[in-house]
Amino acid sequence: MQKKPFATKEQLEAIAAQFPTPFHLYDEAGIRRNVEAMRDAFSWNPGFREYFAVKATPNPFLINILREYGCGCDCATGVELMLADACGAHGHDLMFSSNETPAADYALADELGAIINLDDITHIDFLEQTIGHIPDTISCRYNPGGLFEISNGIMDNPGDAKYGMTTEQLFEAFRILKSKGAKNFGIHAFLCSNTVTNDYYPELAKVLFNLAVRLQEETGAHIAFINLSGGVGIPYSPDQEPNDIRVIGEGVRRVYEEVLVPAGMGDVAIYTELGRFMMGPYGCLITRAIHEKHIYKEYIGVDACAANLMRPAIYGAYHHITVAGKEDWPCDHIYDVVGGLCENNDKFAIDRALPRIDRGDLLVIHDTGAHGHSMGYNYNGKLRSAEVLLREDGSAQLIRRAETPADYFATLDCFPEYEQLVKRK
Ligand SMILES: *Cc1c(COP(=O)(O)O)cnc(C)c1O
Repeated sequence: MQKKPFATKEQLEAIAAQFPTPFHLYDEAGIRRNVEAMRDAFSWNPGFREYFAVKATPNPFLINILREYGCGCDCATGVELMLADACGAHGHDLMFSSNETPAADYALADELGAIINLDDITHIDFLEQTIGHIPDTISCRYNPGGLFEISNGIMDNPGDAKYGMTTEQLFEAFRILKSKGAKNFGIHAFLCSNTVTNDYYPELAKVLFNLAVRLQEETGAHIAFINLSGGVGIPYSPDQEPNDIRVIGEGVRRVYEEVLVPAGMGDVAIYTELGRFMMGPYGCLITRAIHEKHIYKEYIGVDACAANLMRPAIYGAYHHITVAGKEDWPCDHIYDVVGGLCENNDKFAIDRALPRIDRGDLLVIHDTGAHGHSMGYNYNGKLRSAEVLLREDGSAQLIRRAETPADYFATLDCFPEYEQLVKRK
């Protein structure tokens, strides 16, 4: 499938005149269309709820769009909880799926009434000692170990992941939690990341639903919800077939009716915790070509760098690139598209066939709406970029300003020359 940017060159130039490049741009219309499809795909389940994984795109303007559709917030840290709380997500609107959790974070999760999802059996005691009780509603994270395989191959390697409890521990945890007064139980598992197949959720559901039936039978715990967590992916590359959320929702419904309904568990709510699928395709990084360099290879230097989008540098992840206004030009040049960090892995693309790029061209780096700006960092004194929302009416709204040097120096207020640093523009 051809990947087309959601804004034209004229729109992008107009936005760039207002907010200097680089910046992440988000597509309100796309976000809304997708969350509506998500809601419809699971409407067969009365308790269904998507808890947006805040870490993917921790911007309150974007979270609030999802909140209009009833989405909750999935948080992993106290700071993410603070942000979700400020978006009006309270009590069971909050899912706290953390790991290696500091006591203070559990305390805040409890204070805000979040559903706490325990990553380990030892966290039962840790939580009880921290907050003084076991909440009525509690969830446990499951790790079946081994490889997660479906009919057409291995999807991922949970046996090598630090998360969750073994099968034996999960049964034991439910017994202990029940004896300590817990009333409503949840099961959570996140076994594969960025899956581009409609089979992942249904296959995961089969595992979790069968487990839920056994857990309820053997421990007497009341299973209130099953959290399929994240992992539904997006086609970063144009040759990948996008997931169809209707097919996925229907696949989960079929397993629900095969396994849970006959076990008398037709009241179990399905939760999801998607990040990438909710936002990834609806954001892009807009950057300008500022240099070209011809040495042993052809380089295009842009004004963004890995500090704005680190996925290519750390995972070798593919992000499609479109040169604005040259969508229909032949891709007859081979470039490395690079940022300015003093790190040779600061490359958005390596040996990429692209149209001829001239200095001043705007480049659209696709699919940065999740795990993009949020993974940003300040290496080399690079400042984090602005975030801009392209509204449905075509206007552009600044939803996070770019950092200034004063932001970078803010934590040096113990340094004698602090005042001098923060007044530099
Ligand atoms: C990262 C994460 C998610 C979201 O994952 P995506 O791949 O963005 O869908 C959901 N739940 C937990 C616990 C996570 O760590």
